Amino acid sequence: MTNVSEQPGLVTATFSQRMRLRLDDGREVTGRLKGKKLRPVCGDRIEARAIPNEPEWLVTAILPRRNELTRPDKRGQVEVLAANIGLIAAVTSDRPATDWYIVDRYVAAAELMGASAVIVFNKTDLAPASGSSEAELGVFTNIGYTTIRCSAKSGENIDQLRRALHHSTSIIVGQSGVGKSSLINALVEGADQDTARLSQSSGEGRHTTVNSVMWSLEGGGTVIDSPGVRDYAPAIDAAERVAWGFREIAALADECRFANCRHMREPDCAVKEAVASETISHRRYESYRRLFILADDAAQSNRG
Ligand code: GDP
Ligand code: ZN
Repeated sequence: MTNVSEQPGLVTATFSQRMRLRLDDGREVTGRLKGKKLRPVCGDRIEARAIPNEPEWLVTAILPRRNELTRPDKRGQVEVLAANIGLIAAVTSDRPATDWYIVDRYVAAAELMGASAVIVFNKTDLAPASGSSEAELGVFTNIGYTTIRCSAKSGENIDQLRRALHHSTSIIVGQSGVGKSSLINALVEGADQDTARLSQSSGEGRHTTVNSVMWSLEGGGTVIDSPGVRDYAPAIDAAERVAWGFREIAALADECRFANCRHMREPDCAVKEAVASETISHRRYESYRRLFILADDAAQSNRG
């Protein structure tokens, strides 16, 4: 039997039970799932087929993912937030003040999933970045990341942000209140009305929560929003992998005395020496250490 009815497409929004699909032939349809086995997320390539006499389409398969942005859920399982991501844009601000440890974790997630990362400082219309924020942005510049200082409100450097998001599927992440939705509205005309319309037309009734939405950018690229988080950590299956999330640490690992150095208490550790001489930022190292311990604890509780 041939599956002529199976259509390829892209997940461009997810609600609690349903999703918006953009089929490759250009049609936009609402999709739903058969059982609970499939868990499509924004950015997923899927296959779906029309349901006779129903407006909705049935999602029958998720095509293999290039990568996943993950976090551990409350039960210690891996929750996938988005898939097939080329770039993570971590948004920061001075109001509210930024928790730079969370920024490190998003950047680590990008490294571990093979995506790029940019650090966006928003709300420059209020004041330029404070001395301490400039210092933290400088840490990222020094290790090769692009940093963008912009304002969703005044539009300053929004073009620079748009260029950074060009030709890729990006996801905008960061703490609540830093201006993620405002930046998306500055980048995508009508994004807020689109979200409002989506929550009414999802077929799930009035109080639908829209989990995540993807928009196309003028000039190329797509951008996914993500709900604000109080805390974030990537789901990492082995603590030894954490170092690959911190490029300046991974770059020095060959110079440690032990090939399997964890850069914690080992003697002749090139990473700890670089922290002592301030070649590696103390905060970045502390971020590494905390994430290492978190991943190690998770791995142990999975084993036991
Ligand atoms: P989100 O939680 O990260 O999505 O943040 P929002 O986009 O909802 O913005 C949180 C608050 O910050 C709102 O009151 C926005 O109006 C405000 N805001 C966002 N961007 C800017 C900006 O560039 N400048 C100023 N002054 N306020 C902003
Ligand atoms: Zn070491």
